[in-house]
Amino acid sequence: MRVGGRESHRLGQRNERSSLLEPGCQLGERVVREVVRLHRGQDASRAGRADRLPRVAATRAIELRTEIPGPRSRAILERERRAVARPLIVHEPIVAARARGSTITDVDGNTFLDFVGGVGVANVGHNHPRIVEAVVEQSERFLHTDFTVVPYEGYVELAERLGTLVPISGGTRGAFFNSGAEAVENAVKLARLTTGRHAVIAFEGAFHGRTLLALTMTSRTHPYKKGLGPFAPEVYRTSFPNAYRGPDSEVALHALERLFTAHVPPDHVAAIVFEPQQGEGGFLPAPPEFVAGLRTTCDEHGIVLVADEVQTGFGRTGRMFAMEHFDVEADLLVLAKSIAGGLPLSAVVGRASLMDDPHPGAIGGTFIGNPVALAAAAAVLDVFEDEGLVERAVVVGDAIRARMLGWRERWSAVGDVRGLGAMLAIELVHDRGTKSPAPALTEAVIDEALRRGLILLKSGVYGNCIRVLCPLTISDAELDEGLVVWEEALEAVLG
Ligand code: PLP
Repeated sequence: MRVGGRESHRLGQRNERSSLLEPGCQLGERVVREVVRLHRGQDASRAGRADRLPRVAATRAIELRTEIPGPRSRAILERERRAVARPLIVHEPIVAARARGSTITDVDGNTFLDFVGGVGVANVGHNHPRIVEAVVEQSERFLHTDFTVVPYEGYVELAERLGTLVPISGGTRGAFFNSGAEAVENAVKLARLTTGRHAVIAFEGAFHGRTLLALTMTSRTHPYKKGLGPFAPEVYRTSFPNAYRGPDSEVALHALERLFTAHVPPDHVAAIVFEPQQGEGGFLPAPPEFVAGLRTTCDEHGIVLVADEVQTGFGRTGRMFAMEHFDVEADLLVLAKSIAGGLPLSAVVGRASLMDDPHPGAIGGTFIGNPVALAAAAAVLDVFEDEGLVERAVVVGDAIRARMLGWRERWSAVGDVRGLGAMLAIELVHDRGTKSPAPALTEAVIDEALRRGLILLKSGVYGNCIRVLCPLTISDAELDEGLVVWEEALEAVLG
């Protein structure tokens, strides 16, 4: 049974909240034990390894003082059930009190290592002192004017700085918004206004957000789209390459050509929107030949190529922007998440010709480019420069990948290891041959990791990938500690 997008045994899963909030999380533990037992039955050769589990010798960052969840978390989560909309209650069963660097401390005083970073937001770490300082400084000056009424220099300055950083040649312009979804929608608006066309092409496995057009472009049915139609018109979908499961780039590019014949003529298409490495879709990097093919198709038909770098942006893939991995350029880049180190901000940065053409007032919004968020974003860029975080992402990524490849050698359930830079994931399967997805094992590993003080997050259309979006500022010791705990969780589940 699946509820709310999570397997029914998931720790912290909403329909089990009352049971999980009982001391000792007995139901959660029972279900995890059951998943482990079933898995071991299927993979008997691995059984018995648990007693060889290497314990973390001396934890440095992780400090667990209570059972997980602790009593204070449980009490707040109990209140949450009566106060907060249920679709939002899909989170871990711990409640944050403070966060710093790569750790989150809960209201019970338990400190966790965070390999999720607010879903790729905390690339500079939680509460980086320079971000906090910039926020305080700007807050004291002014909080809001509405940029479209009384503008401010921070907006212009960040547009200038991003213009020099994005891998788009020639003049660029920037526009700031609040969320990733809002920026995606505005990129499509800009493409429609400039081309005078309506259609948008998005890909299988894509995630572009939850507002109507962005949700239409998002690909996964459950939990994102189920019951939420009718969706926006003129969005067409085609295949995204997947090196593990197929199709390859050639097949995917043929599918795009077929789309033009069977579903929408290319001269009706305003934009092709893609993620250079799919995030929610399972950390699937776009192969260079596929991106080159998209560029050629766009050039041939006058289509705007939009790279959604909401998750890949700001150093995550070992380059400032993932488009730097390719020899071709996008026309518009969509940025959000880690842009402002934890404050809500998003951006579209792109070719001046595309962004100057639409009429004044065609895009906007009350809070677009909030001055406090913009000050934080400027500080994020300073931190990237001063702390060499793009280079650090490569080092962090290499260390994680090496460990993950070892896991693939060791456990047949680890079917694939993939990703660019420090944007890496493992995909769990029941069988290497059939590659049948193992979402329940995935949940069990994440639960076991949380019990041991490591916060992990799944992804993938089958919910069977575990991804890393840890702060790029993570220390070697913290990284090692987190990977040891992750391995311990794998051992507990896979044997
Ligand atoms: N695009 C991508 C690639 C994302 O990963 C996300 C969020 O996960 C979004 C867009 C939507 O961003 P937001 O949640 O800020 O609307």
